[in-house]
Amino acid sequence: NRQILLASRPVGEPKLSDFTIADAAMPVPSDGEVLLKMRYLSLDPYMRGRMSDAKSYAAPVPIGGVMEGGTVAEVVASNSDRFRPGDVVLSHSGWQSHAVAKAETLRKIDPSAGPISTAVGVMGMPGMTAYTGLLTIGQPKAGETVVVAAATGPVGSAVGQIAKIKGARAVGIAGGADKCKALIEEFGFDAAVDHRSPTFAADLAAACPKGIDVYFENVGGAVFDAVFPLLNFFARIPVCGLIAQYNMTELPPGPDRTSQIMRAVLTKRLNFRGFIVSDFADQSKAFFTDMSAWIREGKVKYREDIVDGLDKAPEAFIGLLKGANFGKLVVKVA
Ligand code: NDP
Repeated sequence: NRQILLASRPVGEPKLSDFTIADAAMPVPSDGEVLLKMRYLSLDPYMRGRMSDAKSYAAPVPIGGVMEGGTVAEVVASNSDRFRPGDVVLSHSGWQSHAVAKAETLRKIDPSAGPISTAVGVMGMPGMTAYTGLLTIGQPKAGETVVVAAATGPVGSAVGQIAKIKGARAVGIAGGADKCKALIEEFGFDAAVDHRSPTFAADLAAACPKGIDVYFENVGGAVFDAVFPLLNFFARIPVCGLIAQYNMTELPPGPDRTSQIMRAVLTKRLNFRGFIVSDFADQSKAFFTDMSAWIREGKVKYREDIVDGLDKAPEAFIGLLKGANFGKLVVKVA
């Protein structure tokens, strides 16, 4: 059983030496359990948090432990009447080729419904994050301007396209010309702005002539700085992720702008609300129904960035934190 373990807690950007590749004995399923062979492993920004022992909403991966992650797997042996060999399931088995899992923790995937990898992408956790955060907190209305960064990723691309479905104007922020082109041509955003451009703040202002009504926060940092002055009265800001900060080791240099930000929160009646997708677990049925219909009707498109081989996961994950991926990053394990 091939496994990728956490070797050390990274300081700043993770390094290849923070991971170890190991071969363990094949696990044996007990009563009510199944043996899984991983087909796809999802790589997601939250995994940076699990590598660190700073207090968070979930426990860290222990040193020497298998890196955590969502997986699409095939049942190869079953001691449960719920699953048969050959069934494809969604599991949370982490960065390894095989695992045992209790049957009740698994959800069956229908391979005839679409590519099975989408169960960890547009039809899975990232898609649901976009759907719930945008609709419950962002509440975009027809004619409003919705801005999202990391916009070619699985969360951001769904945010922009759902905003369009609701009649809003979608402005995407992404790194580089190719990603900006895809925002317009592939995902149907109304405008695309490159955050790596030296004129980024001015470009964003030009792309949002009526200000910003919903800012779906995925990155923080310099992108937030450019967005903040453009926020309209009563803007909604679902705070989903802060990827620009995940490798940060110290606070950015001053001046401290908290008082300026809080003044705007008060006078403009800004509604910032942080969320974790699991807060909205009760919306999963509505999400599945709506998202599968939107994909079928061509209203939501998705893009996957598939890396071949489990051993490539550490390198691909390090790249994800700095924008080397182009679309939902998944590892084809087998
Ligand atoms: P992506 O596939 O979009 O990958 C992350 C992207 O972030 C990179 O490709 C890069 O895109 C962008 N990025 C990285 N560093 C910076 C930076 N300094 N400034 C601007 N952009 C940067 O990831 P996901 O769609 O999976 O996740 C998007 C966000 O949503 C993350 O913050 C993640 O943590 C969060 N999230 C939160 C959840 C929740 O429950 N709250 C659940 C799932 C995700 P580019 O090249 O375009 O800059």
